[in-house]
Amino acid sequence: DAHSRTPETLIPTHCSFCGVQCGMYLKVRQGQVIGVEPRNYAHNRGSLCPKGVVAYQQANHPDRLRYPLIRRGGKGSPLERATWDEALDYIVSRWQDLQGQYGKDAIAIYSGSSMTNEKCYAMGKFARAVLGTRHVDYNGRLCMSSAAVAYAKAFGIDRSPIPMTDIPNADCLVAVGVNMSECFPVMMQWVWRARDRGASLIVLDPRETPLARTADLWLPVRSGTDMVVLNTMLNLLIQDGMIDEEYIRERTVGWEQVRETVAKYTPEEAQRISGVPAERIITAARMYGRAATSLIMHARGIEHSSHGVNTCLACTNLALARGQVGKLGGGTMMVTGQGNGQGGREMGQKANQLPGYRHIDVDEDRRFIAQVWGIPVEEMPWEGAAATEMIHLMAKGDIKSCMIACSNLMVSLPDNQTVKRALQQLDPLIVVDFFMSETAELADVVLPAAVWCEDEGTTTNLEGRVVKINKAVEPLGESKADWEILVELAKRMGKERIFSYRSARDIWNDLRKATKGGSADYSGMSWEKIDEEQGMFWPCPDEGHPGTPRLFTERFGHPDGKARFIAVEYQPPAEEPGEDFPFRLTTGRVVYHYLSGNQTRRLGFLNAQAPEPWVEIHPQAAAKLGIQNHDRVRITSPRGSMELQALVVPTIRPDTLFVPYHYGHAEAINQLTNPAVDPTVKIPEYKACAARIERIDAP
Ligand code: SF4
Repeated sequence: DAHSRTPETLIPTHCSFCGVQCGMYLKVRQGQVIGVEPRNYAHNRGSLCPKGVVAYQQANHPDRLRYPLIRRGGKGSPLERATWDEALDYIVSRWQDLQGQYGKDAIAIYSGSSMTNEKCYAMGKFARAVLGTRHVDYNGRLCMSSAAVAYAKAFGIDRSPIPMTDIPNADCLVAVGVNMSECFPVMMQWVWRARDRGASLIVLDPRETPLARTADLWLPVRSGTDMVVLNTMLNLLIQDGMIDEEYIRERTVGWEQVRETVAKYTPEEAQRISGVPAERIITAARMYGRAATSLIMHARGIEHSSHGVNTCLACTNLALARGQVGKLGGGTMMVTGQGNGQGGREMGQKANQLPGYRHIDVDEDRRFIAQVWGIPVEEMPWEGAAATEMIHLMAKGDIKSCMIACSNLMVSLPDNQTVKRALQQLDPLIVVDFFMSETAELADVVLPAAVWCEDEGTTTNLEGRVVKINKAVEPLGESKADWEILVELAKRMGKERIFSYRSARDIWNDLRKATKGGSADYSGMSWEKIDEEQGMFWPCPDEGHPGTPRLFTERFGHPDGKARFIAVEYQPPAEEPGEDFPFRLTTGRVVYHYLSGNQTRRLGFLNAQAPEPWVEIHPQAAAKLGIQNHDRVRITSPRGSMELQALVVPTIRPDTLFVPYHYGHAEAINQLTNPAVDPTVKIPEYKACAARIERIDAP
């Protein structure tokens, strides 16, 4: 009845389902989350998208894992209920045996970025200071690590330079590989405000996405070839005298080499490679070049690539040449996808980084963090394997056991049958999650984690805004917050002295110390001030500091204060279509699902909209192959085949197929994708592999 839906308390917090981190209230009654209410927070102004409206339904979901599970009879035996003591004692005894026999690096931690900063920090510290392994990395490696490295190279700091609330100041928006209306719906309100002011919109995408349908200009680029278009646009700007010479002289270095490199990029050649008509590229360059304030927004469409870093650098080169970075509403913006994708990579759970973006190979950084953690610097491990490389080490037998938290590798990694074979070699494979995932099904031990509204802490959204997540209810059943699990393990390993947290706030205080002086400096923030200010932006080096919503207004992050132009040449995707596999297969998200879908596939309202995957194919291509709308089809790549439903749509390039990636087992598109990675950051090439498609004839 209506009375039973009346909340006793409203808990202010944020949605967990994407990097926007919309403010919301959770309605709580009799110790249960019963609903959601809008919250007028600085960047979402009361709005929530379909995922945000039902995120609360995870809390009491019947599928929640409520107690630890273990395979007592070894591999092949069933997962059975265990006590925490049994599960944790077993893990620690196996780890001690393995490390005694094979060394510290026999154990790996594979973490995630949908957790709070406090949990991400605890994961990195646990791996390095408690386990002493170099192998710790996280699923952000698969997300936007290419953009992170590009910004660090170009600007000296890995963060979007401006908050999303600045977007309405732009006169021209360029969306490169970002399906914003579906993946970040609430962020769109800032785009609409710019459009209402008269801003133009250019979209580069192989699909005419909902955003592209509203654009002034859609450039239907072949997936994996965006850089050709971007370099050509820069060449056209140079030819038309539309670059900012003074800005280039005063605020940057490296321009001459970029100017020389792009000189050979012509619209005709760009058309041949990218499939975008030359005149549209010329029009795009003019629209972009004439705008007083212009903003390039990019996401996985260019970042999920074996040349992801370089394509992001083509974006930074364009914006620097127009003198836009550091300007109100101008420059570039990476639109980070995971809930805490930004914070998750600042907290020291990345293979090559320590908290606050300190570098694991810099002596001073190692000494500083060793001192904060209370360990001798000689015990600080060196750089370990990236997430994608860990799979090879598992397959080779170099990594013997792995604890996976907040990640569903069997859906999210490319070529997932190879991944499965690697995971099956681990003993034990430990998975920490709150729903049984396709990866947890393979585990020897499954530990039930608390869901986001059962713990507190902070996250850092795609703008660099740190927000406070509040605890609404107690963890369900016997589940525990991830950091509490780590504390229990550390105690059993005799490392209580350095890992004795009693609360998330204890970890927060530790991470403030650890980030002090780093580029992502949280040391001046407090939970109370974050709430008062509706979020705080790093760097915030002391308690009197207001935080830094806009970066690079005066100086860039490099020691000389100048940005770097970096010349980049187009290289094709690692696998191009050919006779056997004539299509380019690309993957992505839909509005109803989050990442591997392990959460959203369980939420009825969301799943009803998109209960299974489909493949989008253009009517011309479909007609040639005799494929009708809703036919069952088989798609095949050099790595495997899968069957699914065809959706014949005019909104995709005729040479391209698109499949959403939120599904598991036989419905996982990552059975087919290419495990090729960017040489710098090891991010996989999810957005371009070769494939063929055929109709499955009725029996
Ligand atoms: Fe949640 Fe993102 Fe939707 Fe906001 S836009 S409600 S953070 S999924």
